[in-house]
Amino acid sequence: MIKAVRGFKDLLPEEAGVFRWLEEQAREILRRYGFSEIRLPILERTELFARSIGESTDIVEKEMYTFQDRSGDSLTLRPEATAGVVRAFIEHGLYNRPKPLKLFTIGPMFRHERPQKGRLRQFHQIDVEVFGAASAGMDAELVALALGILRAGGARDLRLEINSLGCPGCRGPYREALREFLFSRRERLCEDCRRRAERNPLRALDCKREGCQREYQEAPMLSAFLCEDCRRHYQHFKTYLQEGGILFIENPRLVRGLDYYTRTIFEIKAPGLGAQDTVAAGGRYDGLVSALGGPETPAVGFAIGMERWWLVSRGSQREVAAPDLFIAPLGEEARRWAFRLAALLRDRGLKVESDYEGRSLKALLRQADRLSARWALILGEQELQEQRALLRDLASGTQLSLPFRDLEDLLNRVLIEILF
Ligand code: ATP
Ligand code: MG
Repeated sequence: MIKAVRGFKDLLPEEAGVFRWLEEQAREILRRYGFSEIRLPILERTELFARSIGESTDIVEKEMYTFQDRSGDSLTLRPEATAGVVRAFIEHGLYNRPKPLKLFTIGPMFRHERPQKGRLRQFHQIDVEVFGAASAGMDAELVALALGILRAGGARDLRLEINSLGCPGCRGPYREALREFLFSRRERLCEDCRRRAERNPLRALDCKREGCQREYQEAPMLSAFLCEDCRRHYQHFKTYLQEGGILFIENPRLVRGLDYYTRTIFEIKAPGLGAQDTVAAGGRYDGLVSALGGPETPAVGFAIGMERWWLVSRGSQREVAAPDLFIAPLGEEARRWAFRLAALLRDRGLKVESDYEGRSLKALLRQADRLSARWALILGEQELQEQRALLRDLASGTQLSLPFRDLEDLLNRVLIEILF
């Protein structure tokens, strides 16, 4: 038996129903905030991710699905959406549009990680990006939006953690101070962190190992290095959050897994998720558009992990809606008649089921019952000869026999009753 690839999950009808419901909640909240959808390829040039996410990040170093296609190009299944959105933003000259430009996209992402609860190799994100807004007001609005979406899905007791990563100006000196600190504790750090100390010291702070985290309690903090502008921006961000009644926790050790962030970063955590408790994460990335060849454009965004959101959502199973009418044909001629009638009624907006397997009346009615159909239209050979059909109310069991010529009229009336 061939099975799905490890870390890749099928969504069966009930699950797909919940997924779609969650998406609908998100879309409705996004609409209220003025966002437009953008749909992007899931495959990009490897170089796009290497340059935007950063060469020495976990994602680029060890999590990407990268391969050479038949033309010899190095391609990568997208591990996150921001890089692709920024590429499209530049490629299609979207910077010429009125600002701020608010975009969102929903779809699968791919990372070669160890599968566990809340961690898959193909997972889905709702990705939200705003271009051309530099003020911290937009950062706070995005936090409100993220919380709004998560709550619309039924998530409760969310915890917002925030920090500022400063700009390249203040991060340079901080990086040196941190590197020095890491070197001074070198012996007590894991191998990954020793490597990070040289290549990308900030990434060390994101290490998942307890031993390393213990050491980092004493690490220098970026907040002490923030320049005047970054400090003010961070202050504004907090003021806006307070203005909106949004509770937050300042976590001076919060860093994000991608290199492109500047100033504001945030994570939203949900209780009950265990080790993988971050449902949404994001921040500002003022330097990324220009780094990828576009004009200087401030930008801020976040992504919600759909699967983790689902785990803390109302998780209600959306059932497949019951049919309005089940047509039960008996005999070949009746089946052809049923086929035509079903198509006709579906064209008019009714949800209609029929069956062409030649089952007995008893079996057909059982099927109608299982589907929770409201009406059954029984068409036997006898009826066909008399140009009549039996319409049965499946709830009460009452039925009436009516001639074909009345059928249309009656169905029209039933239609009106069902639809309005
Ligand atoms: P983590 O620290 O959990 O690895 P991350 O920092 O790598 O998260 P981001 O790149 O910020 O995650 O992605 C945003 C969100 O996407 C995460 O908060 C999470 O909800 C979701 N996510 C990330 N990786 C996975 C995965 N492998 N499986 C399921 N969801 C994921
Ligand atoms: Mg990760």
